[in-house]
Amino acid sequence: MKIFDSHCHLDDAGYDGDLDAVLLRAHQAEVAAMMVVGIDLNSSRKAIAIAEGHDGVYASVGLHPHDAQSGTDDLFQEMTRMAGHPKVKAWGETGLDFNRMHSPRAAQERWFVRQLEIGGQLNLPMIFHERDSQGRFLNILKGHWNSNRLGVVHCFSGDAAELAAYLDLGLYIGITGILTVQSRGQNLRAMVGRIQAERLLVETDAPYLTPTPERNKYRRNEPAFVRTVLMKLAEVRQSTPESLAAVTWANTCRLYGLPTGDPAS
Ligand SMILES: [Zn+2]
Ligand SMILES: [Zn+2]
Repeated sequence: MKIFDSHCHLDDAGYDGDLDAVLLRAHQAEVAAMMVVGIDLNSSRKAIAIAEGHDGVYASVGLHPHDAQSGTDDLFQEMTRMAGHPKVKAWGETGLDFNRMHSPRAAQERWFVRQLEIGGQLNLPMIFHERDSQGRFLNILKGHWNSNRLGVVHCFSGDAAELAAYLDLGLYIGITGILTVQSRGQNLRAMVGRIQAERLLVETDAPYLTPTPERNKYRRNEPAFVRTVLMKLAEVRQSTPESLAAVTWANTCRLYGLPTGDPAS
């Protein structure tokens, strides 16, 4: 089996002391590839540096909605330059988060639009983050989307209507460890059956969202635990882990423009 963690934050300072051990455990769990997702300038830089040094590790650059207030024209000029690195395979994460409101709504919307434009110009797949935007995310997205573009709504947390709209737009849907959590995962477990297999991705969003049962023992999530997400998803969808690993692997490679063979560089 070969599993792709389609979204993690290995650049997080929480891995500074033991990144090699984290990557070794991932490989022991058959997690053969991972996407390290940037959230601001420094994390995008660090994501590229980590990807540069490790086979099967890729990077994205982008400004998270939480950090939208730090957006400037200069910042995006620099990020556009960084996106030319051969290990950069996506733009994001970008989107809207009206749940925590770490950045004002106007800044979130302005830089979300800008990043949709830049990703389109660079012809990069998009990694989207949406939480509690009450339709605004879809509204803005529809104005900048076309059927040639690729993207994923990571850590899907919307309702059935939003899910249907995302699938209509051709988007992939990222499933995290929330699926494994007893009460918090209830809605998600009820909905994952409606997603066609060809649009499913698995992810950890590590260091956040540690799945059950690992969360009883470890506070920090890590790519190895995406195996638990895959197992739970297979159980809920009444599929085998092997076939689900193969299809989500192929989906992730299609999204990020990678060869489906062993990613080695
Ligand atoms: Zn996110
Ligand atoms: Zn994330």
